[in-house]
Amino acid sequence: RRSVTPISRSVPNGRDEGGDAGRVRVAVRLRPRNVEEIQSDADYADCVELEPELKRLKIRKNNWSSESYKFDEVFTETASQRRVYEVVAKPVVESVLSGYNGTVMAYGQTGTGKTYTVGRLGKEDASERGIMVRALEDIIAGTSTSSSDCVEVSYVQLYMESVQDLLAPETTNIPIVEDPKTGEVSLPGAAIIKIRDIDHFSNLLRTGEANRHAANTKLNTESSRSHAILMVYVRRIKGASDEAISGEDAIESGDAVPTVRKSKLLIVDLAGSERVNKSGSEGHSLEEAKFINLSLTSLGKCINALAENSPHIPVRDSKLTRLLRDSFGGSARTSLIVTIGPSACHHAETTSTIMFGQRAMRIVNMLKLKEE
Ligand code: ADP
Repeated sequence: RRSVTPISRSVPNGRDEGGDAGRVRVAVRLRPRNVEEIQSDADYADCVELEPELKRLKIRKNNWSSESYKFDEVFTETASQRRVYEVVAKPVVESVLSGYNGTVMAYGQTGTGKTYTVGRLGKEDASERGIMVRALEDIIAGTSTSSSDCVEVSYVQLYMESVQDLLAPETTNIPIVEDPKTGEVSLPGAAIIKIRDIDHFSNLLRTGEANRHAANTKLNTESSRSHAILMVYVRRIKGASDEAISGEDAIESGDAVPTVRKSKLLIVDLAGSERVNKSGSEGHSLEEAKFINLSLTSLGKCINALAENSPHIPVRDSKLTRLLRDSFGGSARTSLIVTIGPSACHHAETTSTIMFGQRAMRIVNMLKLKEE
């Protein structure tokens, strides 16, 4: 029996071999007006104007002037969940199936559609399925069920710099472990569940959401203060010819040297971005608010540092950036979807969300994640 040589293509500092993965792809999605906004008064006047054919968005400053921003894609309020998945997440999923790590993140103010975009189960209306379910469908379809290919998931939330298992809610304070040789990041304390089929995954996701809700009720907090992180581990056995073959068969017959390709997809529903700026208004001191936001602030700092090609990327400053370390930068492919609402009364938040997305547009993933 020949041994299987693990080949991890997820080298954080490696060159991008995955095609056009060079830059972080950033899309904006506008939420449809809600009932309150439809029955609008002057306060709810829209402050954004989309030009999807130009992939451009304008934010109105006042009656006379507006600022224009270009993105990789701009989704109007009528964009379907399917289209959003295909543009934002599918290229990342495909590169994960080819053996590269990848990340899809949703960033935006609470109530602008992050969870709708990412976590929607679509049980009643299948067209509403969000990125997590669609990604798993494609990953399950892209891996061979008859071979030793394997799809596993962990689902955790990060709240106040503590990682909690959403699939085994009694497990809290899970440490983040980095392999000093490969740089691989893992959460060995979190449940890792082997996925049988998409119904199995949907049920896990539903359990995870219920646990998230219960945990946050117990902590007397809101989901919007925590980051939900789905980690999908994909292991594929491939023959030397790069044709998908059964790993066991290849080992038995000995006519091809099978390789193991391991990759990881992170799908992240980030905490509400307004937390970065808000504090005392909700009974939190500035310090407490900063602590809640440490991960989000630190992600912003890493994004700024990467965008500016800074020699030091402060990935160690927070749990979120430590978790993302091998899935963001290097050979990994990353997509960010920033969600916004239409209303002028959130002008400041919308502008700050858009600026975050603009900075992320400047990140080239081939840059090394450098640490001091
Ligand atoms: P967030 O996760 O950013 O706090 P949610 O995903 O919970 O926001 O969205 C807030 C509300 O708006 C929910 O009721 C959601 O169903 C609705 N919503 C958000 N985006 C859309 C969309 N693109 N189409 C229809 N409804 C949406």
